[in-house]
Amino acid sequence: MQDERLSRRRMLQSAAAGAALGAWGLSSLPAPAAQAPGDLKILEPIHGAVLNHRHGRQTGDGLTIRVAGQARPGDRVTVNQAACRVEGSRFEGEVVLRQPETELVAAAEGAGPRREDRVRVVWDRYSEPRYRFSIDDNSFFLRDIARKNYRSLFDCFYLKMLRDLHLKYGTKFSVNIFYTAADDAKPATETDFRISQFPDRYKGQWRDNCDWLKLAFHARGNMPDRPYQDAPPERLIADLDLVAAEIRRFAGEEAYAPPTVIHWGMVRRAALAPLFDRGVRALSGYFSNNGRGWDDNYRWDDAHSEYLSRHNAWKDFQSGIVFSRISIVCNNVPLERIAGVLEPLAKDANTAEIMDLFTHEQYFWPFYFHYLPDHAQRVERAIRWVTERGYRPVFFHEGLLGGRV
Ligand SMILES: [Zn+2]
Repeated sequence: MQDERLSRRRMLQSAAAGAALGAWGLSSLPAPAAQAPGDLKILEPIHGAVLNHRHGRQTGDGLTIRVAGQARPGDRVTVNQAACRVEGSRFEGEVVLRQPETELVAAAEGAGPRREDRVRVVWDRYSEPRYRFSIDDNSFFLRDIARKNYRSLFDCFYLKMLRDLHLKYGTKFSVNIFYTAADDAKPATETDFRISQFPDRYKGQWRDNCDWLKLAFHARGNMPDRPYQDAPPERLIADLDLVAAEIRRFAGEEAYAPPTVIHWGMVRRAALAPLFDRGVRALSGYFSNNGRGWDDNYRWDDAHSEYLSRHNAWKDFQSGIVFSRISIVCNNVPLERIAGVLEPLAKDANTAEIMDLFTHEQYFWPFYFHYLPDHAQRVERAIRWVTERGYRPVFFHEGLLGGRV
């Protein structure tokens, strides 16, 4: 979005600074309409921004970033005690991040009382291009294995497909599972499969493959829709504990991972702290706007949802959880469009570093009413695309979205 009040000179300056500091033009500043004229306000970066080498000049001991915002015309503005350039109601300065988290303190002095504004940002110091692959809504493959009583887990075509992709590309898979499996679009009944029926005799195989294959809680079942959007946190945590206990029973501790995607990407804010207590450090969502408002956004407000819709990550310091925007939902993107979805993300400094690849289990199964015969090809196309561009496979529950900390 272009800010019409910027002079041409300012834009050129900004463009030059942007070029030096990783393409953060002032033009990308959100409109400060909500602020009273003259308020001191840091607009870039925002509180909770997760910054990496693409967002500034990184050297051995720090990341120099641009800090910009609005101030009263004529005020002297500093950020972390360094003088800023001030033009009209805009200020701009530089700060070197040297810690995993840094508080940016802008101060303004002039005719009126001294003012301050603060934001805290995260430095993803060791960031490198990486991707994760998360598969949601899993239950059918566990039912298949339990019913067919296979000799090996990989006699199930679904797990064999994942293993083949792992062997070919090194991909790590987060497989997010339900407690119950139901074919119909209604809650599971007494006769439907539940993971408490899954045998523990494959434990050795789960353990042998735990470096690339993790099981995590996703929801109690596919239905009802949006099960945790308004639910008390206790219900979410009880379901998580139920599924976690079963994973540990039949697959062992090594194969278990804390969840990184909750069904429908919607939980109450009060659920975040208990989720953190269960080991949750990252949560992915679509952060999409369906025209009626932001959705699959863990109920974050419009400003944060909009920010996440065009950034890899944002940290909620209150809960300690980092939110990630899903880069692609393979079951929603035709095979020939996969590259077209990923390409622009890889060209934008704000979305290029982390590819959050994603799909749903159901679409692999021929009996499913939305079965996609080319689903496995779509998944491979996305994985091949990121692999060829140097992205490294990671798990999001480890480190900072899979990155070293
Ligand atoms: Zn789901």
